[in-house]
Parts: sequence; structure tokens; C-alpha cells
Amino acid sequence: MKFGGTSVEDATAIDRIAGIVKDRVPERPLVVVSAMAKVTDQLLAMAGAAGAGDLDKALELCLKLRERHYTTAGELLGTGLHTELHSELGEMFNSLEQLLRGICAVGELTPRTSDHVASFGERLSSMIIAPAFVARGLNAALLDARQVIVTDAQHMRAVPQVDEINHRLEIKVAPLLADGRVPVMGGFIGSTPEGKTTTIGRGGSDFSAALVGAGLNAERIEIWTDVDGMKTTDPRVCPDAHRIKIISFEEAAELAYFGAKVLHPATVLPAVEKNIPVLVLNSRNPKNEGTRILSHPEPSKSLFKAIAVKSRITIIDIVSARMLMAHGFLNKVFEVFARHRCAVDVVSTSEVSVSLTVDSNEAIPQIAADLEDLGQVKYSGRQAIVCLVGEAIRERSGVAAQVFDAIRDINVRMISQGASEINLTFVVDEADVPEAVRRLHAKFFADVDPEVFD
Ligand code: ASP
Ligand code: MG
Repeated sequence: MKFGGTSVEDATAIDRIAGIVKDRVPERPLVVVSAMAKVTDQLLAMAGAAGAGDLDKALELCLKLRERHYTTAGELLGTGLHTELHSELGEMFNSLEQLLRGICAVGELTPRTSDHVASFGERLSSMIIAPAFVARGLNAALLDARQVIVTDAQHMRAVPQVDEINHRLEIKVAPLLADGRVPVMGGFIGSTPEGKTTTIGRGGSDFSAALVGAGLNAERIEIWTDVDGMKTTDPRVCPDAHRIKIISFEEAAELAYFGAKVLHPATVLPAVEKNIPVLVLNSRNPKNEGTRILSHPEPSKSLFKAIAVKSRITIIDIVSARMLMAHGFLNKVFEVFARHRCAVDVVSTSEVSVSLTVDSNEAIPQIAADLEDLGQVKYSGRQAIVCLVGEAIRERSGVAAQVFDAIRDINVRMISQGASEINLTFVVDEADVPEAVRRLHAKFFADVDPEVFD
């Protein structure tokens, strides 16, 4: 059971999740927690301030964090706080302060030190949550994630060493579970075999949960967040959007890119590879069944699972006769984007032109200027990518005809069907998005399979 930042943001939230975990005790849960909401950002901000020489700002942010954790611990544990935890929290914050002073003195923030600072978020949250669980009748056992999640030394995006992790799980964690304990550990953080603290990438707690769940051959992995799972589309655009009850891993992966911020499926790959279902659940509404992500769900009768939109896109068109019959042309085009560290999303080409989409950003005029060497360049902002996702696209014919018939009077600027053949993507003016999405949703989600949608 992994609880994200908003699910542990304060004493009320932590009290709530204690109840959720309690209901699962007969199933022998292991709990992975994120830092309290926004804490990782704040830690990185104070590390940055210290690195830039602004110690006052760093210490001020640190003090706020100290107060928040003391308050939360106090609310959860009452007088029980005036014990070990109190001094442990004090020690943690003293060493964080020392670290910040050190960074400021050296005048440089290295990735390794950054990881050390960032690790405090999950160390603090788990340190408070474990005794709070105990105070609520759970047989919880605090586990330092760094003893289990062994990684390489690429700080800030360290790569987990699965074999070693599995070995540690077997010797350190399995016995706790067998003993009826509920292990509580922080996500996101790990350590090199030599004991240097690392982090496995922002939002990495889902990844931690998947690694642990896969290593222990869990029956399922629950990702507890603050929404009722995934929806067929943005409910602000279509109030009648449905909850998706079951989605395939590949479909969820396609959607992830579109700010379906619920969960990045790449992070749960270790679980999916082992066919372990991943559930996205709402800690504020635990009765809701959420969304179940499976490697190979039963084929559904519905053509699509969801319509996703990504706005604030710019289309860049390059027209060049030199492209005709030439080789290496696209290579030169992409080289320009690579040089500007700009990610390209949708691409379509003809013999003499190529259109690409990128997130709108300030570098675009410069990118366009660099592309001028290759051909005539035009770019237009305020565009949006609309993407329909569904495994069934693979097997059906006439899908594109149905989609574009529904929006026949809306100007479509680019079209693409990915190699995975489970998405149909097109680009329209941002202003046309609500109308396009509403029409497509009305057409494809009016009468849905109740096994798959709510
Ligand atoms: N606390 C970390 C972050 O904000 C990891 C996570 O919450 O998943 O990136
Ligand atoms: Mg998160």
C-alpha cells in the first residue's frame, strides 16, 4: 500500500490512512509513504538556497518544515510525543540544518548532497507515521528504506538494483510480515551498496512500491492518492466522464503522458512484468474501487478507454524541397531539437515537409531560427494534442472514419496513429478542444461497458 504526499499531508490524513491500513491487516500489508505534500519541493528549495549562499532563507524554510512535522506528530501522538520521537525529530532537524550550513559553506550543491537533503522528506514522514500507526493499534514496524532499496550511484535518478533489493526484502522484510508486523517505509529514497543516500527520481515512491511489491510477490499493489482513479476524460470538460474501472498497462502508459498525473505507469513496470495488478485508490474516499491496471485485461466491448488532451502545444512546420529523396534530413531536424533539449511529441511527414509538436516554450523562436538552415519554417502556438486510447483500435477497422466524422467541421492540423496502435492522436486549435472532446465523448462513451466503466 503506497500513500502519496496528499494522503499523508497532515494529522487528519495520516489518521485516515491508519484506518485504511487496519482494514487490510488480515492481508498482511506493507506500507510505503511519500513525504508529506510539498515537502520534497521545499527541501530542494532550501538546498538550492543554501547552495546559492542564502543561508537565512534556507534556515527559514527549514524552520517551517520543523514546525509542520512537530505539529503533525503532536496532533497524532499527543503526550506520547514527549518521548523518543520528540528527540529523534529534533536530531533529524539539527542534522538537516547542519547539512544546509555545510552546503552554504562549500558554496556548491552537488547531486549527492541534494539527494541527502531530499531524503529527509520520506525519512521524516515514515518516522512519524509508524508510531502513529502503533498508537492506533497497528503492529507497525519502521523500516529504513535505505536498507532495502539498493541503487547505483547516479544521484537524483539512481537505478534500483533489483537482485540485491529482492535479497534484502527476503532477509529484512519477509520475516516482519511473517511475524504479523506492518512494515512502514519511505518511498523515493535508497542507498548505494556503500551506504550513500540516493533518490530514484521525482515521484519515485510509486516505483519504490512497485519494486517492493514485485520483490515480495504481492497479490496487488495499491497506490493511494486523492482522486477516484482514472477518468475517461477531464470531468471539467465533460461532467459525465466515467471512472475507468479496468485499464491495460499499455493504455495507462499512453495516457500518462497527457497529464493523467494520477500515476506514471513506467514506475509500476516491475509489478506489471510480474502480472501483479496495480490499483489506483482514493484515501479520501476509500470505498471507491478506483482503477485497476492489469497487464492483460479481458478485451472490452468499448472501442476507447479514454480521451486525453495536452494543451499549450506549438506546431513547427519545416518545408524543404531538399527533403525529397534525401537521407539524413530528419536526423538534422531532430539534432536541432536535441541541441535545445526540447522534447518532440507528435511527428508527421510528407515527402517535402515535416510537422512536429513541442510543448510551448521560450526557446521556440531560437529553435525556429536554427531550423531555417534546413528549410522554410513556420510555427503556431495555442494548439492541443487530443489522444484517444484503447486496445480495441488494433482489431477494428473504420475507427478513424468514426472519429473524424464526429468532428468533421473542426480543423485538424496533424494526425498520427502510434506504432502501438492503441492510440489515435490529432492536433487541433486549443480553442476547439472542449467542443471536440465533448462530441467524441458523447459518441464513444454514451453507452459504455459497465464491467469496464462506472
Ligand atoms: N516525495 C517525492 C517527490 O515528491 C517522491 C514521491 O512523492 O513519490 O518527488
Ligand atoms: Mg507522488
